[in-house]
Amino acid sequence: MPNPTSETKPRPAGQGAGADSALTALPAIDVTLGQVVSRMAREYLKPHWKLAAIALAASAVVAGATGAVPLLIKLALDNIVGTDAWMLLLVSIGAIAATAVQAIGTYIARMNMATIGQLIVATIQKRMFSRIMHADLAWVSRTHSGRFLSGFLYDANRVRDSITVTVIDLGQNLLTVVALIGAMFWLNWKLALIGSTIIPFVAFIVRKLGKRTRKATQRNLEGSGDLTAVISEALKGIRVVKAYDQEETEISRTGRVIDMVCATALKAIKNRNMASPITGMLSGIGIAAVIYFGGRSVQTGFLTIGDLGGFLSAMLLAYEPLKKLANTQTLMHEGAAAASRIFPILDIEPSITAPGDAKPLVVTDGSVRFENVHFEYSDGTPALNGIDIDIPKGHTVALVGPSGAGKSTILNLVPRFYDPTEGRILIDGQDVRDVTLSSLRAASSLVTQDPFLFDDTIRANIAYGSPDATDEEIQTAARNAAAHDFIAALPNGYETTVGEAGFKLSGGQRQRIAIARAMLKDAAILLLDEATSALDTASELQVQTALARLMQGRTTLVIAHRLSTIKHANMICVVDEGRIIERGTHEQLVNMGGLYAELSRSQFIAEPAAETASDAAVAIAGE
Ligand code: ATP
Repeated sequence: MPNPTSETKPRPAGQGAGADSALTALPAIDVTLGQVVSRMAREYLKPHWKLAAIALAASAVVAGATGAVPLLIKLALDNIVGTDAWMLLLVSIGAIAATAVQAIGTYIARMNMATIGQLIVATIQKRMFSRIMHADLAWVSRTHSGRFLSGFLYDANRVRDSITVTVIDLGQNLLTVVALIGAMFWLNWKLALIGSTIIPFVAFIVRKLGKRTRKATQRNLEGSGDLTAVISEALKGIRVVKAYDQEETEISRTGRVIDMVCATALKAIKNRNMASPITGMLSGIGIAAVIYFGGRSVQTGFLTIGDLGGFLSAMLLAYEPLKKLANTQTLMHEGAAAASRIFPILDIEPSITAPGDAKPLVVTDGSVRFENVHFEYSDGTPALNGIDIDIPKGHTVALVGPSGAGKSTILNLVPRFYDPTEGRILIDGQDVRDVTLSSLRAASSLVTQDPFLFDDTIRANIAYGSPDATDEEIQTAARNAAAHDFIAALPNGYETTVGEAGFKLSGGQRQRIAIARAMLKDAAILLLDEATSALDTASELQVQTALARLMQGRTTLVIAHRLSTIKHANMICVVDEGRIIERGTHEQLVNMGGLYAELSRSQFIAEPAAETASDAAVAIAGE
């Protein structure tokens, strides 16, 4: 049986490494900046409102201290012209106090927001992972893992940056600009009006640039997802790449994606960085106007030199926060682009669920029954068309049939990796859709052709799903799976790490560890896809021995490739195009002279060497 998580991820020939096709399975949703901000504030910022409030209060203090500076400058300038030395000293002390308050306030605000940012990114990542783990297998399989990875690596961090930036920079800079504008109006409202004429222009340009940045960022993030996808595919398939001498193809494929990511990043950077100079230039025009009109007012005696000095310093002080505000807008748009990519993950609801009042499955015999089961994959591929199978307690039913007939699909329906589109599946008389998912999955063990091992110790791999197993139980399982001897011979024994996906072990060894895992789980029902991979006879014998032991006393549904398994099955179902077209024992089916007879003469059913090994294994296991 193909690995259920990988079976829907065929590598598209010669293009995009699945990136183009598979990533579209999870498109970004269309959300406005306002929606993103309000959702983020509601769901992620609210729990940290105290820290955020302190940060905002600190920002307000910073803004107030900045707003006081022009007034101090006015006082200083007016007193240089006058003679009050005490006043000058007081103003100097005031300047030190204002800058000290600014520095401390900025530190508090930034530290708090950085903390909130990290906590938010952690929450988003945990929620996303939990959603993915609980999501339907069909949905997870349809989406390229690169898309998920980029969600964790890039998108979540972009969202964090935009939240921190929104609260800190937007809050602080906006308050500072407001305080300085207040100071300007206090000093001279006419000049303040002249100086403020630039603000609508700044707002307009910043808005435009923000939207452009968002588009470029969206494409950049999609590109980053594609990049994660192509790199992880090339690494997973490195053997095939080398065997087919395709290093250069992969290098240029990945190079194209990298170029795309680079180009879109540059576009976003260009738009983002245009905001500051444009705002700067417009501010320059405002300052020039104030110098001219303010200067004329001083010359004509309408304004003191202190008023003009204070006013100009307020304008110059507003220059930086105004530029930052412009930048903030574009950064927020970047965050919105990232959020539109992670919301679909955060919002996914599994459709394969148990009803609210579901009871745990009560396994008495472990009998399995398929009643008129039809199934088609979500892309419309019909896979099963009226399957009826009855497997009484402890019996073995072997599924045989040509490739693509629907055998794996039948197996996948028992633990509800998918739900039938019609018909039902019963375990001990209970519909699998009516019982809790965890009790259902505890009732069966799945052993696939190419078992998956985690990059952990052998002990942890065997005990996966049985965390309370004792060392003795783990060893007994390994012995029964004919794995103990080779494990004991390894330098670190059960503590040996197996490498990514178990690459440090041979195919046969991996299979025996997976069998030990199923032994330890000790479920009443066994769903088994026999390996077709050519193991050498000794290894084959060991795997077959282990499998025969595993099958003993369990209700087994097996996709059979070995004559020995088939011979010992209580019933063989021949599957073709989603239907069971023949059923019976080996002899009955051979005599029938139909598809089974044809298959048993061809390579679909095990070669003689393996058959001998398997027969021997069954004999050993039966002893
Ligand atoms: P094999 O012996 O080669 O593993 P099989 O008998 O197990 O084949 P299935 O894997 O059950 O066959 O596939 C049955 C049909 O469903 C095939 O036509 C296959 O292309 C299709 N199919 C399998 N998985 C999916 C999927 N996730 N999405 C869409 N179609 C699928």
